[in-house]
Amino acid sequence: MQESGLWQAVLGEIELSISRGNFVTWFKNTTLASYDNQTAVITVKNIFVKQQLEKKYGELISETLKKNGINPVQINYKIASGSSVSRPENDEPVLVTQSSDPGRRSSSTGTIAKTPSALSHSYRQGLNERYTFENFIVGSGNELAFAACQSIAANPGHKYNPLLLYGGVGIGKTHLIQAVGNAILLNNPDARILYISSEQFVQELVDAIRFKKTADFASYYRTTDVLIVDDVQFIAGKEKMQEEFFHTFNALHQANKQIILTSDRPPRDITTLEDRLRSRFAWGMSIDMQIPDFETRCAIVQTKAHTQDMELPNDVVEYLANNIQTNIRELEGALNQLLAFCEMRALEPNIGIATSLLGIAKTRPKHLSAKQIIERTARHFQIPLEDILGPKRDKDIVVPRQIAMYMLRSELHLSFPKIARELGRKDHTTAIHSVEKIEKESRLDGDIRAAITEIKERLYA
Ligand code: ADP
Ligand code: MG
Repeated sequence: MQESGLWQAVLGEIELSISRGNFVTWFKNTTLASYDNQTAVITVKNIFVKQQLEKKYGELISETLKKNGINPVQINYKIASGSSVSRPENDEPVLVTQSSDPGRRSSSTGTIAKTPSALSHSYRQGLNERYTFENFIVGSGNELAFAACQSIAANPGHKYNPLLLYGGVGIGKTHLIQAVGNAILLNNPDARILYISSEQFVQELVDAIRFKKTADFASYYRTTDVLIVDDVQFIAGKEKMQEEFFHTFNALHQANKQIILTSDRPPRDITTLEDRLRSRFAWGMSIDMQIPDFETRCAIVQTKAHTQDMELPNDVVEYLANNIQTNIRELEGALNQLLAFCEMRALEPNIGIATSLLGIAKTRPKHLSAKQIIERTARHFQIPLEDILGPKRDKDIVVPRQIAMYMLRSELHLSFPKIARELGRKDHTTAIHSVEKIEKESRLDGDIRAAITEIKERLYA
């Protein structure tokens, strides 16, 4: 029991730090069989998973175990008895449909249905049953999105097509769109539902081109009943991807198949999105999701604690909800860390443990404001605050201003209009351009990267 609680906490954290696809492929169905100071033994399904965990994730696993209070000298991997040695990709259904009727699959999807090709590993539903409507807490910020998703689940392909949810990270977009898929499958186990991130979509198309399987790729996507594409902003600027997506979109839409999309910003602000896609996205319904308010965040914390059979005192719940205001994923991470810590030491969670353990105040001070970020940036570049907020367009002022905008986005997750306002700009597209520019340049330009790191260090010191 203790192993499983601990391992759940470890998995919860690992899930936050790697892509969903990798998490599902490599960590799903792993368990912690035993541990002591010498050795932790992790059970895995097959040799491929074992190799991958050893090679690629060993460090991440041992670090995360350490964070959760155990620090074994070595980690061993044991293959679960009864598992066959199959390639991990074959463990998941190859095709979207859950139908057991093979005729239907092959007639609609051609060769991919029968032969697991070089591509087949990624042809899977991608749905995670842990995301449901039942465990989604509704409150201000997400209620409209919730209602729209429920209505789609009841009657896919009719109302709101496409549905686009947009908003900052960790506010429940993926949870909701996955819940739609899960609810539809529950009503109709034969429904062909495909959930995919747009990064995966891009990768699969690249593979399809490489292995000369573009026709399969196209027919595969165009024969689903519900296509759910997460984080669609990533296809922007990629011409071939947008084109493929456009055709897929049209084919599905014409056939009254449901399309559900998410994005981290409204389509009008995805600057390199082709107009024809932008206009398609606007055909249905777009919903601006916001981070849930304080009361809802408290409810989320308490509910998640209950699912782990823990009751938290109100001050602990409020502490968490107050200190993590922009991202439910972080809120969950903090909660899991606290619960695992208390469980291992058989302690009742209290505010003292919460504050000292999570030290949220240190990593993400609640007093950190937009103003502080702007002031700190101006000071770093030794320019007067009036200049960074004012109209001057000299390069040595414009760049710091752009960096300040970037930091408002990365540290506080502010919306673009808000970022523009904070810097005295009327037009929020300036904020978008600035953030994108600095995102790109910080990858290429060591000076910019160093400046950002230094400003951050001072802000969080
Ligand atoms: P996004 O896709 O917007 O970045 P996610 O859907 O991945 O965010 O949500 C992050 C985490 O927070 C998930 O584990 C999700 O289950 C949880 N979460 C977000 N909003 C809620 C909510 N209203 N009720 C319960 N859990 C939530
Ligand atoms: Mg998401």
